[in-house]
Amino acid sequence: MTASETRVPLPSPGGRSQELAARRSGRVGMVHSWELVTAVDGPGTRMTLFLSGCPLRCQYCQNPDTWLLRDGVPTSADDIIRRIERYRGIFETTGGGVTISGGEPLLQAGFVETVFDACARRGIHTALDTSGYLGARASDALLDDTSLVLLDVKSGLPETYRSVTTRDLEPTIRFGDRLSERGSAIWVRFVLVPGLTDAPENVDAVAAIVARWRTVERVEILPFHQLGAHKWAERGIPYTLEGTRTPDQSLLQRVRDQFTSRGLPVR
Ligand code: SF4
Repeated sequence: MTASETRVPLPSPGGRSQELAARRSGRVGMVHSWELVTAVDGPGTRMTLFLSGCPLRCQYCQNPDTWLLRDGVPTSADDIIRRIERYRGIFETTGGGVTISGGEPLLQAGFVETVFDACARRGIHTALDTSGYLGARASDALLDDTSLVLLDVKSGLPETYRSVTTRDLEPTIRFGDRLSERGSAIWVRFVLVPGLTDAPENVDAVAAIVARWRTVERVEILPFHQLGAHKWAERGIPYTLEGTRTPDQSLLQRVRDQFTSRGLPVR
């Protein structure tokens, strides 16, 4: 449930060459927007920051307006941290914190590292919402400062993963393996799309991958919906899921059962 729909762009610091240097150092990031949410993107009430730029092209993407890095607003980590400070009391009361999402946040791993380092120093819970495709860019220091990884496993069969995202599955598996080995908490997310990701063998392949990660605390099955479709039309991008429906209860139950049969905690 969304507690606040106040998605607003953040102000930009000036100076093009200074900005590039600051971006390389992780002090400035290209930010799409932020919002305050409750009961999504991690525990408690959260400030979710959406970064611009993503190398994937998921057929069901709800935010194609985050795909291009250049469409973001250059924003200093200091500014973000000042905003985070304002909500510290709410985070403490609700057991919430800060989530960095996208786009794909690890496209700007240095910026995430800067913000999460500041959060960790203040004892604020942090969640990284990622496809894992760029997991190799996450330093151990970044992961040390990450309380929870929301890991989107978009499909379990390599050919289906490629069809869904245009990219390879393997980097996500490697990232999950690394998180499991280092003891990082994971909430897995799987978007269930009738006719695209719902084949029993694809779901079973996701469940098999996830079952080998020891640190998975929950699996969230997210039913596909059409809420982002208008953004594709607005940007003139061909949309392939026009006639696709939200999964019905029997499909949801079958998929849930496929995960629970491997002992996975489905929410
Ligand atoms: S990874 Fe996320 S932001 Fe990127 S295309 Fe897929 S759904 Fe959209």
